[in-house]
Amino acid sequence: MSKIAVRGGHNFACPGASAIIDETTEDRKIKDVVIKYLKLAGEDTLDVTPSNCGENEDLNYGTNAANNAKADLFIPIHFNKAYDSYNGKIGSEVWLNPNNATSVAVGNRIVNKLEALGFKNRGLKDGINGEHLHDIKASNMPSILVEVCFVEATEDVSLYKKLGADVIGKSIAEGIVGHTIGNAIVSTPIKFRKLIKIIKQTPLIDAGGANIRTFKVGDEVTAVDEDKNWWILPAGSISKVNCQEVIKTSTTKPITAANTSKTAQYGVVTASALFVRSGHTLTSTKLGTLDKGTKVRIDNKVDNFYSIYYGICGGFVSADYITLL
Ligand SMILES: [Zn+2]
Repeated sequence: MSKIAVRGGHNFACPGASAIIDETTEDRKIKDVVIKYLKLAGEDTLDVTPSNCGENEDLNYGTNAANNAKADLFIPIHFNKAYDSYNGKIGSEVWLNPNNATSVAVGNRIVNKLEALGFKNRGLKDGINGEHLHDIKASNMPSILVEVCFVEATEDVSLYKKLGADVIGKSIAEGIVGHTIGNAIVSTPIKFRKLIKIIKQTPLIDAGGANIRTFKVGDEVTAVDEDKNWWILPAGSISKVNCQEVIKTSTTKPITAANTSKTAQYGVVTASALFVRSGHTLTSTKLGTLDKGTKVRIDNKVDNFYSIYYGICGGFVSADYITLL
């Protein structure tokens, strides 16, 4: 799993290009879709889009946030403009450090994906020697700045509108990760929660048969149902034979239909940084932390832990640091 920082270019106090469509408005739509599909692909994703501020703060915010988070990749999303108006197509390009192999590989995949959608492929542009782009030079990690298309080019904009942000953002996300990403999250009713450990490299497959992500040996995930040879995770299926059950909790007995429609229970975090763990013990793997004041949705109480909605597979937090709402 990589940590990928994504930002929309510019901000509404310091806006980007504008012609038939507005760059700042559209890059935020694409940014949100890219993040949605990266998360669906199981990537650790970070939105480093600033709110309204001046140009220098705007640029520094994104690269500082990506650097501080020690992201593996930084993906700023922009739209281009070269003329006041343009009748025809101009196309897509990415700006990057041409001497960085990861940037070149990811950049090529992104422009090839956009080309497959019908945008003219303008290829890779040198953001270090050609133009000194802040996002490429000030980031500690490979940074690939995507110029989706040109806001004044009639054919670029009509293709952009015809396809819509979801299709385009998904293609960019697939270019970033290098594989296709399943479309739909299967909304599986929670019958139980069982912590399972992957014992052989195993794909997670969605209802349409697409490979959402691949788990490594030792990864721990929470199954919420089972179907013959499959454990069901909230985002799809996983092969049962490649997993073993790690913890049998008191929640393993099927929850009755009446219980599944119970009113949602929420709590708020009272610790300054509360660990979310993969199981209901203090030695269970840490999945992440929640800041004080974060509202969580609680599924169940297991021993002195709450099982909460977290990521695609849920997690457990110590009940000592949650105040029920
Ligand atoms: Zn821009």
